[in-house]
Amino acid sequence: MGLVQTFRGAIDPSEMGPTLIHEHIFVRNFELEVNLPDPEWARQRAVEAAVIGLTALHGLGVRTVVDLTVPGLGRDVSLVAEVADQAPVHLIASTGWYTPNVLPTYFQFHGPGRAIEGPERLTELFVRDITVGIGGTGVRAGMLKVMTDSEGITPDVARVLSSAALAQQETGVAITTHSLPASRNGIEQQSFLVSRGVPPGRIIIGHSGDSEDLDYLRELMDNGSTIGMDRFGMEQVLPDDRRIGTVLALLESGYADRMVLSHDAAFYSHVTPPSWRSMSAPHWRMDTIHRRILPRLREAGVTEDAIEQMLTRNPQHLLEAKP
Ligand SMILES: [Zn+2]
Repeated sequence: MGLVQTFRGAIDPSEMGPTLIHEHIFVRNFELEVNLPDPEWARQRAVEAAVIGLTALHGLGVRTVVDLTVPGLGRDVSLVAEVADQAPVHLIASTGWYTPNVLPTYFQFHGPGRAIEGPERLTELFVRDITVGIGGTGVRAGMLKVMTDSEGITPDVARVLSSAALAQQETGVAITTHSLPASRNGIEQQSFLVSRGVPPGRIIIGHSGDSEDLDYLRELMDNGSTIGMDRFGMEQVLPDDRRIGTVLALLESGYADRMVLSHDAAFYSHVTPPSWRSMSAPHWRMDTIHRRILPRLREAGVTEDAIEQMLTRNPQHLLEAKP
């Protein structure tokens, strides 16, 4: 209790340091790798690139990176463990399921009231990942991640969210969402999870930084949750100038304790491969906050205390399991 699970074992929250709370080491699709390989994917080269990238982040002051790559996004914890063994930062694994609409067919056949009767396999998976370890690796998940997008809370998405809510209450780890702020759906995510027993303070509404709707963002925080200003560098969605403007406005009204900063970047993603990223989204990298955003915040008068709150203390509080 009170510890934070990392790839290399449990640590005290005070050891976390500046933390990027919503990132991806690798985003993959194993079936595509077998059947429609991406020439840019090479296992060993990817590991090397991630180790080099994380070492550089350590040089900038980052001490912990949360990998929110859950099943549905090609989670492969044994491969990320190779990175974690060589990288000087703490890496944290996560569990959950990433789907905007339907689950794999397996789940249509397995579960309560289904053809192959049994307990809800999603809940089993999430709880086992958090309490025992992921697959046979012994790496325990430190955070839950769920999503809803333009299709809303479909029956399968409701299954994922409900299982995550149960796992949250059983284990005390926090839940991060992928939201679609243009539709203000963080409110729906928040009320769904809270109605199933999740304390609002254990919810991070991810991708909130894509929004400039201050009323919406304040509502999420006033309801008790943290908002993820977690896509710095994703300028193809919203330029950093405008993301910074939103953070400054909310800091001005005293919300430093309800915001976390990250990039939602990846060292490799088959969806947006490295060559596309370097051409079309050159700042969508995990060093953007330390290289480009923090200097701008400081210039605008943001205090070191507020930066430490958003990058260190809020993540500590969220990552510490609170059963
Ligand atoms: Zn993400």
